[in-house]
Amino acid sequence: MSVRTYREIQRRKSRQIHVGSVAIGGDAPISVQTMTNTVTADAKATIDQIRRIEEAGADIVRVSCPDEESTAAMKAICKASTIPVVADIHFHYKRAIEAAEAGAACLRINPGNIGSADRVREVVKAAKDHGCAMRIGVNAGSLEKDLMDKYGEPCPEAMVESALNHARILDDNDFREYKISVKASDAFLAVASYHALSEAIDCPLHLGITEAGGLISGTVKSAIGIGNLLWAGIGDTIRVSLSADPVEEVRVGFDILKSLGLRARGVNIISCPSCARQGFDVINTVKTLEDRLKHITTPMSLSIIGCVVNGPGEALGTDIGFTGGGAGKGHGQIYLNGQPVYRIQNPDLIDHVVELVEKKAAEIEAARNAAAE
Ligand code: SF4
Repeated sequence: MSVRTYREIQRRKSRQIHVGSVAIGGDAPISVQTMTNTVTADAKATIDQIRRIEEAGADIVRVSCPDEESTAAMKAICKASTIPVVADIHFHYKRAIEAAEAGAACLRINPGNIGSADRVREVVKAAKDHGCAMRIGVNAGSLEKDLMDKYGEPCPEAMVESALNHARILDDNDFREYKISVKASDAFLAVASYHALSEAIDCPLHLGITEAGGLISGTVKSAIGIGNLLWAGIGDTIRVSLSADPVEEVRVGFDILKSLGLRARGVNIISCPSCARQGFDVINTVKTLEDRLKHITTPMSLSIIGCVVNGPGEALGTDIGFTGGGAGKGHGQIYLNGQPVYRIQNPDLIDHVVELVEKKAAEIEAARNAAAE
């Protein structure tokens, strides 16, 4: 129990499944995933993109398998990827079986769309034989016709009914390693659907606001939708859908989790918007620092504040801080563990802070390794 109870999020208790080596649900950390947008059949391009996605910190990556050429490339892709690969399948049960055989850790497939009961059994058998999980992915844009006839339009009741229908098929086949998503591009519909689903079933939930938009508008919409659910304790894995580089999706996903204190990764920079009081160029300094500190994965905090109005106060709660000395002064104050320690000249600021952060990261990692021994 924290002394700051207003920050506590009580997570919904879901059963735990595994996507490859990544636990999802239960008390597992909320995982971040994204999806490649290369042609899957081009294994080299897809593996190159997965490398960048891994470096950004993604826990899981999804790859589309629209045809046989794609599932043929999956073997090399799954072998090369250091994070579990989810095969995205629509309708074609054979692609699902091929992907499972190729090493996919999870199949994103809706069993109700595969066709006959025999086909479902074959897919479930392939998943069991190869240790694959599944994700049922209900989407407001592709709800089944009978549900659209029944409800007239995509609504939370229809989304949940669709999800439970698919889940029942897997349960009937004695397959329990599945998670569910009920995505919509409308954040209200998605949030209401996830709330209703979270009460109807205990499997882990994969959150997303689908087709959220471009980098900025999609980030805002995702932060509202996914953030709202996570804040309510709902959600075990997330994917931010942006019309942008998948690496950006991973960054935004982690930023949502960091903002809610649900996961920590890398340097959390606290910076002011800057104004006439700034003692140095805050905006460009932060931009450069974000870039120069991308390689740091150790969780820590850094405050970069333009002047003494808010600098000392913000530095109090961070591992490392810099506060500008006021317009025209040309120097500022370095803080370590909240305490002012020495001044540096503005031109030395970036190199010096990068050095301090790298040193602190090494200390934290060394202490962690020592504790683990
Ligand atoms: S901290 Fe100082 S420089 Fe930054 S916005 Fe506030 S008053 Fe302006």
